[in-house]
Amino acid sequence: MIKKLLIANRGEIAVRVIRAAKELGIKTVAIYSEVDKDCLHTILADEKICIGPGPATESYLSIPNIISACEATGADAIHPGYGFLSENTYFAEVCEACNITFVGPSKESIEKMGDKIEAKRIAKKAGVPVVPGIEEEIKDPDDPELIKEVKKIGFPVIIKAALGGGGKGMRIVNSEESLKIALLTAMEESKKAFGSDKVYIEKYIEEPKHIEIQILADKKGNIVYFPERDCSIQRRHQKLIEESPCPMIDEKLRKKIGRAAAKLAEEINYYSAGTVEFIMDKKGNFYFMEMNTRIQVEHPVTELVSVVKGKRGLDLVKEQILIASGEKIKFSSEDIAIGGHSIECRINAEDPDKDFLPSPGKIENLILPGGNGVRIDTHIYSGYTIPTFYDSLIAKLIVIGSNRQEAIRKMLRALDEFKISGIKTTIPFHKKVLQTQAFMEGDVYTNFLQKYIYEQI
Ligand code: ADP
Repeated sequence: MIKKLLIANRGEIAVRVIRAAKELGIKTVAIYSEVDKDCLHTILADEKICIGPGPATESYLSIPNIISACEATGADAIHPGYGFLSENTYFAEVCEACNITFVGPSKESIEKMGDKIEAKRIAKKAGVPVVPGIEEEIKDPDDPELIKEVKKIGFPVIIKAALGGGGKGMRIVNSEESLKIALLTAMEESKKAFGSDKVYIEKYIEEPKHIEIQILADKKGNIVYFPERDCSIQRRHQKLIEESPCPMIDEKLRKKIGRAAAKLAEEINYYSAGTVEFIMDKKGNFYFMEMNTRIQVEHPVTELVSVVKGKRGLDLVKEQILIASGEKIKFSSEDIAIGGHSIECRINAEDPDKDFLPSPGKIENLILPGGNGVRIDTHIYSGYTIPTFYDSLIAKLIVIGSNRQEAIRKMLRALDEFKISGIKTTIPFHKKVLQTQAFMEGDVYTNFLQKYIYEQI
């Protein structure tokens, strides 16, 4: 069993992991950059150690600094959280070489799923439906054969970076004329953002839903899938609101998607927590997009909605830690029932009236919501200053209601209670979305914001 866990992350996810580890009786080590010395995770952990200055490349992304922190504190395991080094094959490899347990999958799994072209090939091989497209790297944007192939797929198509993430580097192409220039720009963008100009093309599915399946798999070959999350409320391909279950999916389809996700995990001998992402059209056809080999921001909706062997209280981070320690999962997919409806709103320090401009700064006053069925995962407090260096996520507000309508009402009530001054946040934006007729009716697709919100702002 892991004795001392170093959390190679910051903010709300570091706090989340520290809490889970403490409940398991594991000692915790927080790492922090110079600008993060007052961040809540440094206060809650048993020990803390500074790993460098503000820029992430010199602190949270510095493998030598993090490994040294592990050695200095005697930590025997690392939880990478999400973002930063969580899907970095080399980091997982270094941990292994240093005899540090990496709370995540094997480096082979990270590598296979890290390249989206390779991931699609593996999914196809496992019999999982994939978005129609060209499953190889585009090398020559001038190739006449390429135009032919793209025409076969049919416009619109989407160009995606093979090593991409965070909704970045995607380009929708509507006609043959704009294909070449779009490809060249996408390749350049991808090179800059991800260090590789490897891009691929797939059919652009219009008005789809983003549906994803949380899985857990242990080192003994047991794989469990959970009820789906619907993450269709997105801005620039990045999620803002997530819910579970999806109002459009029935029990039969749920099983089918869940099994597809489990099949992919089986194909790569996956272990740890992971998420298989699909895109789904209005007819309920679903296609694999990618797999995230880490814990995700939106994991709490699954925790709140899942009833395991008749009990609430699922903790995916604890399960992840136990799996890393070599334990077996104690339940199966058949043991999981849906207990109501859960919604999560990502509260970002951004100004929704100014095109979501980041709004870091000092939090003057803070009153957090609470009450029956309301959970808040956050690292902020009154007097805390949000640094400029990192992601703008400052809190996740999650609710559980007996049905979707109740969950929406609860979320609106909680958003109303949430009082924060000194910075701008996305709270007013969430209120607007939740009160939109289409959202209340569950008529939610990835183009929701363009259709119903932007024209109103
Ligand atoms: P990333 O890893 O950058 O988040 P994803 O492959 O997960 O990229 O896609 C992010 C979002 O982009 C999806 O949730 C969806 O909204 C949109 N998207 C991706 N592929 C397609 C597609 N083929 N058709 C329509 N939308 C897509």
